[in-house]
Amino acid sequence: MTVPAKIEMIDDSSCKEIKKNTQNINKPKENKNKIYYKDKAVVLTYHHISQNPFTLITIKSERFEKDVKMLIKEGFNVVSIEQLINAMQGKDVLPPNAVVITFDDGLESFYKYAFPVLKKYSVPALMSIITSRTENYKSFKEDIRPLNSVEIKEMYESGLVDIASHTHSSHDFIYINSKLKKGGKLAFKIYDIETKKIETDEEYIKRVTEDLNTSKEIIYKYIGKYPDILCFPFGHYGKRSIDAAKSCGFKYFITTQYGCNTYNSKSIIINRIRAGDNNLTSEKLKDNIIKCAKTVKKD
Ligand SMILES: [Zn+2]
Repeated sequence: MTVPAKIEMIDDSSCKEIKKNTQNINKPKENKNKIYYKDKAVVLTYHHISQNPFTLITIKSERFEKDVKMLIKEGFNVVSIEQLINAMQGKDVLPPNAVVITFDDGLESFYKYAFPVLKKYSVPALMSIITSRTENYKSFKEDIRPLNSVEIKEMYESGLVDIASHTHSSHDFIYINSKLKKGGKLAFKIYDIETKKIETDEEYIKRVTEDLNTSKEIIYKYIGKYPDILCFPFGHYGKRSIDAAKSCGFKYFITTQYGCNTYNSKSIIINRIRAGDNNLTSEKLKDNIIKCAKTVKKD
């Protein structure tokens, strides 16, 4: 049983006319000399770009441009998440050496440093945003500031950037049992340390569907379209969270599960590899993409 979430309706009258321009996306080329793999795509995970990398998942802007240049030079075809999903459902084809670029966490550094590169080389990307943070972007320090609605709308309208939900305010860790083990707030039932009780199924469903519906409405307000892709925080997910998300209209799920994604697999789960780690190089990333595509693993 799902409990319909009560959500605050947001005035969307200003965003009805938004049209996505898909003309900017580079048309895939078949480079016969460099076919590493066919009928599959490797999805790359990036997070943050800063001139002062301070975490493992923060890279300098030069690295991101180097990665994109490498992808083009080495014969990879960067496709949109939409094309990948359609291909996974058997409704579209994939060019050889297909790659999808994804960024998690909705940081403004994506607009500042990655979006100019995407425009320069006409390559698409997916950005998964945490809507409680984009709504309160001003309260964050400059280097970790989230995107704002104007930036999100501009990028979406360019036709190069798709927007997915990374939850409204469930991008956190919570206690999940009496041993005070921690887990992702979206995937697990909360253990209350004061009452020593774990959330009931009904409480879990109510909390999670409210969170995801809020996120959906905010993204609709930004881009005039409801997202159908949910990116699971920390890659934590299970049947419980997938069922709750499906009841809110989400159809496809981005994880941190290692592996590639195959044409006509009919899978709704999208596997990825790490790309935005600052101990990687563009050369190593190339090897990792090919290695992943050649790894035989069930979707
Ligand atoms: Zn995240």
